[in-house]
Amino acid sequence: MTDYKGNCFCGAVEFTVSGEPAAMGYCHCQSCRHWSAGPVNAFSLWKPEAVKITKGADNIGVYNKTPMSLRKWCKTCGGHLFAEHPPLQLIDVFAAMLPGLKFQPAVHVNYQESVLSVKDGLPKMKDFPSEMGGSGVVLPE
Ligand SMILES: [Zn+2]
Ligand SMILES: [Zn+2]
Repeated sequence: MTDYKGNCFCGAVEFTVSGEPAAMGYCHCQSCRHWSAGPVNAFSLWKPEAVKITKGADNIGVYNKTPMSLRKWCKTCGGHLFAEHPPLQLIDVFAAMLPGLKFQPAVHVNYQESVLSVKDGLPKMKDFPSEMGGSGVVLPE
């Protein structure tokens, strides 16, 4: 099984993810944009047991604005690590945290909230796929 290493901006927190992600893509939602201070969030979703903190576990801060997302970051540098999604039983390890992972996005989600239009030919979900509890509606690029 492949292990991918990740660390925060300063290196105080290190972690690994094992195996392959359940899904990869881009989220355009207002929450992701506001928290990341970027126009879009590149995500990779993993089963909780695939993610292991290998250094600095007590240096991780957490904030949950909603029960959907426990957002975690390094208390020293403020660098983002990942967001746990308990209702989905998945952890979003931000793709930028895993330089060794070949990022292969398959979908854009929450495209109705987009501030950055992307013409890459991938499906643009209005919110989420129906199997994740969304409408399943696909918007034009
Ligand atoms: Zn740090
Ligand atoms: Zn989002």
